[in-house]
Amino acid sequence: MFDISMDKIVSLCKRRGFIFQSSEIYGGLASTWDYGPLGVELKRNLKQCWWNSVVHAREDVEGLDSAILMHPDVWRASGHIDGFTDPLVDCKNCKKRFRVDHLQSKGNIKKCPECGTEINLEKNPPRLFNLMLKTHLGPVEDDSSTIYLRPETAQGIFVNFINVINSRHLKLPFGIAQIGKSFRNEITPGNFIFRTREFEQMEIEYFVKPETADTAYQQWIGQRFNWYISLGIKKESLRLRPHNRQELAHYAKACTDIEYLFPFGWSELEGIANRRDFDLNQHTLKSGKQLTFFDAVENKRYLPYVIEPSGGVDRALLAFLSDAYREEEVKGLKRVILGLSKDLAPYKVAVLPLLKKRGDIVELAKKITSSLRKDFVVKYDDTAAIGKLYRRQDEIGTLYCVTVDVQSLDDGKVTVRDRDTMLQDRVAIDMLKGYFKDKIS
Ligand code: ATP
Repeated sequence: MFDISMDKIVSLCKRRGFIFQSSEIYGGLASTWDYGPLGVELKRNLKQCWWNSVVHAREDVEGLDSAILMHPDVWRASGHIDGFTDPLVDCKNCKKRFRVDHLQSKGNIKKCPECGTEINLEKNPPRLFNLMLKTHLGPVEDDSSTIYLRPETAQGIFVNFINVINSRHLKLPFGIAQIGKSFRNEITPGNFIFRTREFEQMEIEYFVKPETADTAYQQWIGQRFNWYISLGIKKESLRLRPHNRQELAHYAKACTDIEYLFPFGWSELEGIANRRDFDLNQHTLKSGKQLTFFDAVENKRYLPYVIEPSGGVDRALLAFLSDAYREEEVKGLKRVILGLSKDLAPYKVAVLPLLKKRGDIVELAKKITSSLRKDFVVKYDDTAAIGKLYRRQDEIGTLYCVTVDVQSLDDGKVTVRDRDTMLQDRVAIDMLKGYFKDKIS
């Protein structure tokens, strides 16, 4: 059904140093992944693109980096301690546990995805399972020292609402953006980095006058949808899915998911919700602190509504990888290309000496590398023959390869090869910086 299988993506990620199984030498830890040298560059670029688009490119959004560990009352107020649960069923045969909403078939008779045994929900009703991971703070492990690893970054924003307003003199509408780790004891993690127990989120809480919330909600849906497209995701691989009433959280007025056509099918990439004033109201009630906004124009205090675009860094990264992966045949040989956009590509330029035994060529190639390094992420590589080096760079999405040859020593020019077209340009060494600035910056 789909051209690109997850196996191909997972294999490329391991082979080329994007993503490794966590604790692999000890047999691995289920559904936990480490980002390797290429993965960490891609992830940093992705987060920077998000930050540029929602914080630096706007006048009305400020950043935040709140602690992962928070006062347990935060989670009582937010409803996570009582309500952050997934209904689960056990398969009586293989003893595995599954989220009811992940099981195929309608009605009360489900099928175990693991062993195919019938699961009858009437005889075997689902139980609720809290998704928060617990730990203890301090030397004594009792109930009073229990704290939680945050299951979302959003609450760190709500509890800093007044701090941010007061320190930045903000007026509505304004937003607070944050990127950070979140933890959920997911029952059915899987599909590589799509659903894991430790993951990163990119969240914005955008506070508005209640009567303008519907407009802001629509604007954020458009803005976030277009962000994925601006970074190269194919439009036909993205869609919006508004939640129906049954699906909506009780406090939400509306919610729309941005879904991507992953190799395993359409799945949520990001959700944009109108959460009304639920969170600020809850924290006002629990903390006893006034979290209202003083509107100087209308001379009154009120609780703003909030629009929340909430996306996953790892899911977005998987979508960008899947979307960029392609295979071509060139002169009878298979070529794998990671067609990442120029902003996301981990390395922008690779410098390759044509003959690594020639000291003068190697020296010139290294000199070019260090001069380009001031402006671009550049890698020097002489560990294989040129054809192989090109293929490797194509697989990791490097935008351009610069080849230094014997002629370069005479005419001061190098060959620049474009990843996508494979077309080659002969460019003077002292023009290289300007050449790449035009193409990349
Ligand atoms: P799902 O229905 O897939 O469990 P959700 O609706 O519970 O997701 P939210 O609570 O809205 O997810 O979280 C916002 C975003 O955080 C999601 O759109 C997703 O990109 C990311 N995310 C949530 N849970 C995970 C997870 N376990 N692993 C990776 N990313 C996640």
